[in-house]
Amino acid sequence: MPDPQPVLLVGAGPGDPRLITLAGADALRRADVVLYDRLAAPELLDLAAGAELIDVGKAPRSQTITQDNINQLLINHARRGQHVVRLKGGDPFVFGRGGEEASALTAAGIPVRVIPGVTSATAAAAAAGIAVTDRRAASAVTIVTGSDGDGTAEPIDWHAVANVGGVIVLMMAWRSIEDIAARLIDAGLSAQTPAAAIERATTPQQRVITAPIAELPESARSLSPPVTVVIGPTVPLAHPIADLPLAGWRIVVTRPAAQAATMIERLRTLGSIVIPLPTIEIRPRQDAAVDAAVQRLADGHYHYVALTSVNGVDTLWNALEHRQLDARAFAGVRIAAIGNETARALSRRGLHADIVPAAFTSTALSDRLEAEDLADKRVLLARAAQGSPVLRDRLSDAGARVDDVALYDTITPPPDPDALAELRAAANLVTLTSPSTAQGLVNILRDTGSDAAQLDSLQAVCIGPVSAAAARQCGLSVAAVADVYTVDGLIDAVLQLASEHPSGLR
Ligand code: SAH
Repeated sequence: MPDPQPVLLVGAGPGDPRLITLAGADALRRADVVLYDRLAAPELLDLAAGAELIDVGKAPRSQTITQDNINQLLINHARRGQHVVRLKGGDPFVFGRGGEEASALTAAGIPVRVIPGVTSATAAAAAAGIAVTDRRAASAVTIVTGSDGDGTAEPIDWHAVANVGGVIVLMMAWRSIEDIAARLIDAGLSAQTPAAAIERATTPQQRVITAPIAELPESARSLSPPVTVVIGPTVPLAHPIADLPLAGWRIVVTRPAAQAATMIERLRTLGSIVIPLPTIEIRPRQDAAVDAAVQRLADGHYHYVALTSVNGVDTLWNALEHRQLDARAFAGVRIAAIGNETARALSRRGLHADIVPAAFTSTALSDRLEAEDLADKRVLLARAAQGSPVLRDRLSDAGARVDDVALYDTITPPPDPDALAELRAAANLVTLTSPSTAQGLVNILRDTGSDAAQLDSLQAVCIGPVSAAAARQCGLSVAAVADVYTVDGLIDAVLQLASEHPSGLR
């Protein structure tokens, strides 16, 4: 049997995936198996590429997976010699039963290491602008669980808690907040003590409600867990939270999942709630036409290669690799890229784009290529099957011998039902990064029974005029078009729109 590796109990932080520690992120990257909780941000699991992901999230009160089961799973995986990460919300040792897991592992002879995390006990207050111990008002903070009796060592002495002074932080207390507030007041805490309830702290869905403790259960009735309650004299000292520029905006990202990560990350960082709903999927072709084109490229047949998207670069590169070819296939070839992002995809492979037009459109690319002497030059136009004829026709008219090779098809994938429901209920904006994302969106909406009115009420922000024209042709309303035809340009357009419409578009 292999020696067991230490099991890492990793704190995931309070909610925002970026609040994990560097050590925690590193542990996830090296993990073979990750056992995770309901409270850990799903984005963190993306760090554990290739690892087996086991959801042991116990919804409060559900009996689906017991603590013994979790302990046993940890032990079994560790005994196989795997790198096991137990990812827990907040800090692993602040409630949440990390201590029990550590003991069970130790008893089984398996080493344990803890990577602390940012606990919501203090982060929830901080994210609401409250310093738990502002020395002008409090010199103690008492952190208490509200789920009294659930295997806790001793019943909570609410009388003592009410009389420590300073600030009280209640966790796992939302379901019994009425009862707890009454007990604290009975024990002598003033009914007027300032209090705040913070739901889903540090996420775009964060909500904060403040009221005197006697009124908080009623005032904050609309909140739902996870909620942390902060009670005490530092609550009124809270500084106002500066809203992020896209706070409250629910934005649909229609790019294929594989390319959406940076865009989603940026939109989230700006405060928006992102609804990922890929409306296109790339299906590379592996047919004789692609084979022949790649072989001609490697044989030095072409003078120019023109690439009109990141997908084009990716699929052409994969086709080369598939045939054990590499960047040398481009030796002596002038490379034209439609825009910066396509050029960047090339440079990631060590290829420099010789021609990048100032405006990132087929027309601008045609203009730039026509400025070269194209008479009798052989051009490989490597792109999607459904590409527009503009580029091919203009290059042919300029005397070039164009091979327009379909590297991939763009299809409409089946939509994720949750994302679709969110789009229908609450989306403010849909981002469109190509004409095909617009067409895909409309296909999805039609296939799932949306009517014209629903289409009409969707506001699109488009990466450029070509996508905007396609969106309008599909019956979508275009709220804004980027000035610079890149994802960053598109996000700038969203920011501009949000600043002009502080209370939203619908
Ligand atoms: N180990 C975790 C706490 C687990 S107990 C930590 O250190 O944060 C679960 C409780 O944590 C919830 O009932 C709630 O009170 C609190 N909590 C967790 N995430 C939260 C969040 N994003 N916002 C507010 N409270 C949160």
